[in-house]
Amino acid sequence: MPQHDVAAFADLPDAGLHRIERDGQKILLIRDADTVQAIGAECPHAGAPLDEGLLHAERIICPWHKAAFCIRSGAVLDPPAVDPLPRYPVEIKQGRVLVDTDPIQSPTPVQPSDTRHFVIIGGGGAGAVAAQTLREVGFTGRITMLDQGGDVPYDRTLLSKYVLSGEEGSEKTPLQTPDFYRQHSIDRVTAQVAGLDPAAHSITCADSTAISYDAALLATGATPVKPDLPGVERGNVFLLRDRRDADAILAPVLRQDSRRVVVLGTSFIGMEVAASLRERGLTVTVVGQEATPFETTLGPEVGRGLAAMHQEKGVSFRLGRRVKALEGAPTVQSVRLDNDEVLSADIVIIGFGVRPATQFLSNLPRNEDGSVSVDATLSVTEDLYAAGDIARFPDNGRLIRVEHWRVAQQHGRIAARNMAGERVRFDAVPYFWTIQYMKRVDYVGHAEGWDAVIIHGNPQEQDFTAYYVKAGIVTAAACMGRDRDAAALIELFNHRRDWTADQLGETPAALIA
Ligand SMILES: Cc1cc2nc3c(=O)[nH]c(=O)nc-3n(C[C@H](O)[C@H](O)[C@H](O)COP(=O)(O)OP(=O)(O)OC[C@H]3O[C@@H](n4cnc5c(N)ncnc54)[C@H](O)[C@@H]3O)c2cc1C
Repeated sequence: MPQHDVAAFADLPDAGLHRIERDGQKILLIRDADTVQAIGAECPHAGAPLDEGLLHAERIICPWHKAAFCIRSGAVLDPPAVDPLPRYPVEIKQGRVLVDTDPIQSPTPVQPSDTRHFVIIGGGGAGAVAAQTLREVGFTGRITMLDQGGDVPYDRTLLSKYVLSGEEGSEKTPLQTPDFYRQHSIDRVTAQVAGLDPAAHSITCADSTAISYDAALLATGATPVKPDLPGVERGNVFLLRDRRDADAILAPVLRQDSRRVVVLGTSFIGMEVAASLRERGLTVTVVGQEATPFETTLGPEVGRGLAAMHQEKGVSFRLGRRVKALEGAPTVQSVRLDNDEVLSADIVIIGFGVRPATQFLSNLPRNEDGSVSVDATLSVTEDLYAAGDIARFPDNGRLIRVEHWRVAQQHGRIAARNMAGERVRFDAVPYFWTIQYMKRVDYVGHAEGWDAVIIHGNPQEQDFTAYYVKAGIVTAAACMGRDRDAAALIELFNHRRDWTADQLGETPAALIA
């Protein structure tokens, strides 16, 4: 048995994180009252060192993208990880900690044999995690996952970052292998859904195939907005949502015949694309109607800090400007602004936001933005659930819709558990990240406007926490260079949402240490 004497029990600080490596296994030891837990030391999502994460209430939170794991079982409690941490047997003998490097095999719960058919529409962040979760909770019936793209579910967030920049990202993609879906009898079917009749429990595909379901999950994500601009249909004007879009943008870049890029839009997709193509050495100009990038989401001071980072890397901005036309034929050669300035362009990339992909749901009530309202269990109506970018869900006493990878996956997990017969509520605080020039901004909460932004640290130095305050209460916070504080804010906001900026202070991590 590969058992190793790894430490004196007395030397492990209570609730401390102690990393060891034996037999090639990277193991995290956590003193847990009078015992010790031994789990994998690296996050299976992107390999982050979990000893730099945050331990709170039997959860270890990854310092990078904030996946959370149970320290006793290694189970994923919050995505973006989709795989559990390995767990190792521990014995304490005569004050010494003995760890076996053969991981413990955890049995999957199995429910009684089931003849029901669950259909998941959309194989993105929410859909893929829902399918996997159904098997994890022991559902033995039939699972069909319909997706119009037909790709093995992959990490979409990498497209604007590593796929476009050509840098190496360590995130796991695809989320699972084709074999995984085969082994778990999850039928991946390439099909575009064209209609759904909730009363008849029936789905119609674009090729007229009809599929009946016992329970279904809507997880069709969103479609980028294409503005009504002269020239927008030309071949060198791109949107970015999926792998094919990223490949289409890269084709002329890799041919080396397109060097000048104009990005329209100063929010997350536009700015990530700008950073990535600049990292490839292209000439990048960003056009935005706001005075500062990210102004409506992060506020002007944080926006100015991030804009300065782009400018230092050589990105040019035209701010407070609208686009009048994309000019040139057969391809666009320039972008005309509302002040008649003309920007030369070999490629134009549009980041004007997205709209929920729900056009096919004519039999369901939809909100003005195309989203579908759900209750806290992610239920739309009987036996029908919605998750991810299309779902408008209850959050802190109001209904909100967000476009966050981790939230979509959390939704997928909760919806799947409810489809399988549990009754669980989604009540986690929303969290997203953005990465530009390999630097991450973490955002916790949801602020639709604020009275004040209280900033600790300095956005110009990419080291800050910004609190967005409405009526005295912190509704959201953005952090850069402060991984453990961002993790702590998630834990604090999950616990209660009435914090004032004074209470959270300079170092939220200290509050739950
Ligand atoms: C380039 C990019 C970068 C991003 N970066 C970040 C980031 O850094 N951090 C973050 O938090 N979020 C990020 N996001 C947002 C995040 O990816 C989304 O919030 C998330 O993918 C939503 O998951 P979803 O399952 O709702 O939709 P999706 O992941 O979009 O999946 C929907 C799936 O449904 C399929 N589909 C659509 N219509 C139909 C139909 N009629 N029939 C069959 N199938 C259909 C689509 O093909 C797609 O595969 C990014 C998004 C993009 C596009």
